[in-house]
Amino acid sequence: TFLSFEGGDGSGKSTQLNLLADWLRGRGHEVVVTREPGGTPLGTKLRAIVLDAHNADVISPRAEALIYAADRADHVERVIRPALERGAVVITDRYVDSSLAYQGAGRALSAREVELLSHWATQGLMPDVTVLMDLDPIEAARRRKTPADRLELESVEFHRRVRNGYLELAAAEPERFIVIDAREPVEQIAGRIRARLEGRIHL
Ligand code: C5P
Repeated sequence: TFLSFEGGDGSGKSTQLNLLADWLRGRGHEVVVTREPGGTPLGTKLRAIVLDAHNADVISPRAEALIYAADRADHVERVIRPALERGAVVITDRYVDSSLAYQGAGRALSAREVELLSHWATQGLMPDVTVLMDLDPIEAARRRKTPADRLELESVEFHRRVRNGYLELAAAEPERFIVIDAREPVEQIAGRIRARLEGRIHL
């Protein structure tokens, strides 16, 4: 079973992903938690390059898209596919929808091209279910304590495009997406995610 968590920075997706992983482990599943960018040794290096605040004006949008695609190709090949093959539940913090939302809607690259690039990088491997943590960018910014990386310095308009990009993806593929209102309390959200997952897949 392959699950991805998506959402803007500060939406609480990492918290929820870890709660879900613990719950699944409690039910006896082997769970592999991983993330993009940075799920492999190569990915860690690419993450440092692409999220370095000093690179803000150095990386052009197409180069950025290719770096995320390279990270994803390595991630699928070395981590995700082997884990799925041995029967583990894989939960990734970000996957192809991040590229469609950030490089596509955010940077205004052609959605179709970003999709083809991701498809090539993953050899078409898609999550069974994608949990989208939906939150207004202003609220998300308020939650974050430290403005950390390059992306977090982007304008509110950029983050609004990303949010709308995600919501459009979810609307286009309702059978894959679970959209969660990220304003609710942590435990309530965790329960909602579990309930909606149980309705979709055998866990
Ligand atoms: O989820 P996390 O905060 O670790 O993501 C790191 C950063 O990478 C985020 O700021 C996210 O906006 C950015 N990112 C991106 N395009 C991707 C994946 C992540 O811009 N395809």
